[in-house]
Amino acid sequence: MTTEQTTCKQCGTCCKQGGPALHSQDLDLIRSGRIPVSSLITIRKGELVHNPLAKRIQPVSVELVKLVGKKRQWECCFYDDTQGCTVYKDRPYACRVLKCWDIGEISALMEKDTLSRFDILDKDDPLITLIREHERICPCDDLGYLQSHLSHLSGEQKNELERRVQSDLKFRARVTVDFQLKVSEELFYFGRPLFQLLQPLGVNLTESSSGFRLIWGK
Ligand code: SF4
Ligand code: SF4
Repeated sequence: MTTEQTTCKQCGTCCKQGGPALHSQDLDLIRSGRIPVSSLITIRKGELVHNPLAKRIQPVSVELVKLVGKKRQWECCFYDDTQGCTVYKDRPYACRVLKCWDIGEISALMEKDTLSRFDILDKDDPLITLIREHERICPCDDLGYLQSHLSHLSGEQKNELERRVQSDLKFRARVTVDFQLKVSEELFYFGRPLFQLLQPLGVNLTESSSGFRLIWGK
C-alpha cells in the first residue's frame, strides 16, 4: 500500500533542479543581506528557459531574479548534499510554497509578483543607468522569434545578432572594470552574456583575429 505524500521530506530533489525565482515577499531577505546579491542571477525578459508546467523551453514573459546555480549547473547555490538547504530558515517564498505532491499553489505563483532588478536596487544606484543602457544595446526579447525562425534568418539578421553579441561583450568588459564587478555581481546586474543565451539554439561563439564571430548550426 502506498501512502500519499502530505509533507516535504526535504529530499532536495527540487533544489537540485534549480533555485527559485524571487517574489515581493523576499525583498526583506535581500535588503537585510540574508540572501546576498552575489547569490542572485537575472533572467532577462525574453530569455529561453525550461517551463516545468509547459514541459518545454520558452521565453520568460517578465524579468526574473533567481537564486544562482553552482558553477555551470542550475542546482541551487544554497543546497548542500549533506546539510540540505543551508538557508532553510531564510529560504525564499517559492521554496516555502512548493509542494511537489501538489503543484497548484506554486503554479499560480509562476511569473506573478516576481522581483526584478529595479525592485531590488536603490533608486539612486548608479548601475541602474547602465542596466537601461545594456537593455537598449543588447535586448534579448526576440529569442523566442529566433528559436522558431532559426533556419530562415537572413544574412542581415544574423549580422545584426553578431553585432549585438559583440556590443554585449564590449559593454561587459567596460563596466566590470569601471565598477570592479565580480562575475557573480555581473550576473545579477546584466544577466548572462547574450552568446550564452544563444548556445541552446546551436549558435556558438568563436574568436578569430578579426574578433568575435557567431558559428551557426549544431
Ligand atoms: S518539496 Fe518535494 S522534492 Fe522538494 S524537498 Fe520537499 S519532498 Fe523533496
Ligand atoms: S533556497 Fe534552500 S530550499 Fe530553496 S532551492 Fe535553495 S536549497 Fe532548496
